[in-house]
Amino acid sequence: MRVGDRSGVVYDSLIAAWPVASASTQCEGAELDAELIVSTVYCPTCEAEHEIDEFYALTCPVCGTPTADLRQGREFEISSIEVEAEGRN
Ligand SMILES: [Zn+2]
Repeated sequence: MRVGDRSGVVYDSLIAAWPVASASTQCEGAELDAELIVSTVYCPTCEAEHEIDEFYALTCPVCGTPTADLRQGREFEISSIEVEAEGRN
C-alpha cells in the first residue's frame, strides 16, 4: 500500500490495526506492506517540487510562496497484491 501523510489515514494506526482488522477474514495472516508517502508541493517561483512537513501549510518551504499544487501525499491506494496459491494434492 501507499499511504500519503495527508491522506487522512494515520500510518502507525493502520499498521497497528491490521492484525485485528484482518482477523477472521480472508486476509487473516497476510502481511501488510505499507509505504508512507511524504507530501510534496510544486512551487512556481522555485520551479521545483519540495517536500513539506505533514502539518505545514501549503507554502513552499524554501521561498514561502503559497501553492496549492500538492503533488503527492494524498495517496491511500493498493499498489500490489501477492496471492499464494494453495498446494494441490
Ligand atoms: Zn519556492
